[in-house]
Amino acid sequence: MRRGAARQHPRRLPLRGVRPWHQPHRRSRLPAPRRRRRPPGPERADRPVHRPAGLRPRRNLGPRPPERPVIVRPEPDRDSRPWWDAVRRHELTVQRCDACGRLRFPARAVCNACRSREASWTPVSGRGRVYSWIVNHQRFAPSMTEPLTILAVRLDEGDDLLMYGNLTEPAELCEGLPVEAVFTDHDGETLVNWRPLPG
Ligand SMILES: [Zn+2]
Repeated sequence: MRRGAARQHPRRLPLRGVRPWHQPHRRSRLPAPRRRRRPPGPERADRPVHRPAGLRPRRNLGPRPPERPVIVRPEPDRDSRPWWDAVRRHELTVQRCDACGRLRFPARAVCNACRSREASWTPVSGRGRVYSWIVNHQRFAPSMTEPLTILAVRLDEGDDLLMYGNLTEPAELCEGLPVEAVFTDHDGETLVNWRPLPG
């Protein structure tokens, strides 16, 4: 198809500066997509802009903040606040339903066995078995160790009592590995982590 050429005035060359007999009659490939110009205006924020590095605008981001241990800060809510208060005292607890006696964790308002809303917090042994884990190789802060292993632990008091925390020392991990809770104080907060039980 050479519609553009056919519509030209017959006494003019079809394309200025380009000899028509050098153009192939048939394309061996699909035509390249037409290049479109963006209308002038502010650059769109959602697309990367490639400029030479020296021409990037410099912004003053202020002094670099001091390096400090970065932890995931607990955010207690209505149901979990008593658990965090106990952790601060280095006590590990779970909820016990006042009506049927069933243990539950994480904290929730209603017993999923009998629907009772009455519950108390009761201490547990702090021992459990590894249910699953992930190994993180990204150092998100200079103070973090790498690799960082995060465990999901089934407490000995019940298969559906799952707690999470970091592995505090290297171990040959496998499902069912016995572990015990360790209370780690950081910067005014206390976290529950886990270490392998000997033997
Ligand atoms: Zn109950």
